[in-house]
This record gives sequence, C-alpha cells and structure tokens, in this order.
Amino acid sequence: MKTIGAHVSAAGGVDQAVIRATEIGANAFALFTKNQRQWQAKPLEAKTIEAFKRACDTHGFGPGQILPHDSYLINLGHPEPEGLAKSRAAFVDECQRCEQLGLELLNFHPGSHLNKISESECLARIAESINQAHAATEFVVAVIENTAGQGTNLGFRFEHLAEIIDQVEDKSRVGACIDTCHAFAAGYELRSAADATTMLDTFERVVGRRYLRGMHLNDAKSTFASRVDRHHSLGQGNIGSEGFAALMRDPRTDDIPLILETIEPAIWPQEIQWLRDQQLGA
Ligand SMILES: [Zn+2]
Ligand SMILES: [Zn+2]
Repeated sequence: MKTIGAHVSAAGGVDQAVIRATEIGANAFALFTKNQRQWQAKPLEAKTIEAFKRACDTHGFGPGQILPHDSYLINLGHPEPEGLAKSRAAFVDECQRCEQLGLELLNFHPGSHLNKISESECLARIAESINQAHAATEFVVAVIENTAGQGTNLGFRFEHLAEIIDQVEDKSRVGACIDTCHAFAAGYELRSAADATTMLDTFERVVGRRYLRGMHLNDAKSTFASRVDRHHSLGQGNIGSEGFAALMRDPRTDDIPLILETIEPAIWPQEIQWLRDQQLGA
C-alpha cells in the first residue's frame, strides 16, 4: 500500500498534526515534535501524549506512517566539541520525544563539516552520534535524509549515507529517506520515468533497499545538479510530473511514508490524490 501525506503543522500541540493530516486526505504525515528553530523545548505533557496517541488510533495512523523530522539546528557531524555535544544532546531529546509518542522513525539531515574537518571525519562523527543516541534510547530508528549539498552539508551523495550506515553498530535502527528535490539538486536525474527508476536502482545498489524508510516528494525550483535546496509543488518545478508518476508505480515505495514538503499547503489534498491516481498509470 502507498502511504501518502505531507509535513503538517503541529501548532497547538502534536495531536493537532494528526487532525490536519486527516483533513487533507493523508494516510501518512510528518511533523516536528518541538519548535524546529529552537534548541530548548518544554517536555511533552502526559495529556498531549495521550491526545496524540488517541488521535492516531482514531484516524488509523500507525508508527510506520509517521515520519517526524528533527530540528534544523542539530549538526551531528559538528567539527567542534561544544557544537557537537549540544547537537548530540538535542538529538537524544528528539529521539526520546518520539519514543514517548510511540513513534519509531526520526528523520534528520546528516550534518555539516563547516570546512573544518574532512568529509570522512564528519561522516564518522555522524555515525558515532547515531550510536550514542541508540545507546541512550530504546527503539527509535535514525532515518538519514539525503541533502541537496548546499554549503558544507553532507549527505548529497548516496555514498555518504552508505558510509554513515556502515559505521552504525545497530543496523536495525538506522535507515534513509530520499528527498526528491534534494536528489535532483544533487545531480540524480528524475525527469523521466526511466530516470526515477534508475535513481531508486542507484540507491538500492549503493545503500540497500532495506534501509529505505521514507521519501519526501518535492518538485524542485532549483535546477539539476545546482546543489541548491528550493522545493516546488509537484509538476510545477524542474522535475515535472513524469518522474513522480513512475515513483508511485514502483513497489519500492510501498509501505513507507511518502511525504510532501511542497510549497503550497492549500493544494496538498490535490497533490495527494494525484499521487494516488498514478499508481495504476491513470
Ligand atoms: Zn529534511
Ligand atoms: Zn526533505
């Protein structure tokens, strides 16, 4: 089954995100469990946790259909001790919030070397950050998102994801999320149906199919291989409709959260319906 949704707002409490996902006809969703632009957050209250779990039950969302995203401030490959320690502590807090909510996946951007350490050193730090987070928590799976490669962000080549995963001790608690806008901006062709299939083939060969735990379906305002991260609505950007239609017909996108982070929330219901319609080549 295809589980499709969007990154919805959690304003007013995480339980409200479930309601918003239902309203747009989604059977998957993403959310922030805290303000993504602040380091500190007050702990989740017991009544909020209860309300979230109840809403998920009522509307039929299991943990495999929900892909929380961590704060943009966290850099798990930070070159400096202070920044690294702060990021690691914040990441453990994010993992714990997920576990309190009964959520099994946590999506994050791998990290940035800030031109102060080598790529491989940064990737090793990211892997060690994941190992430490695993040791401090029980079951949450660290889902590494590929990036557009803006600035000094790593994760723009699937090889980076593979190099991190290779150094993670508990392979059952690590995975990857492919963001189509980021992939295209990083130089993975997606414009034709054959391109989209090839991109998944490449992921499968380099990283491994079993690690694919989610996707972000975004068209791109940025141009091919530009290393610039600018999302667009489906079919309106430089990727266009054909690649997305092919992704929806591919069995490798079954049973993982497929999340829109497109720029016009008002048309999410139509985008979700359009994606559903592509499954049979309609
Ligand atoms: Zn992201
Ligand atoms: Zn994304």
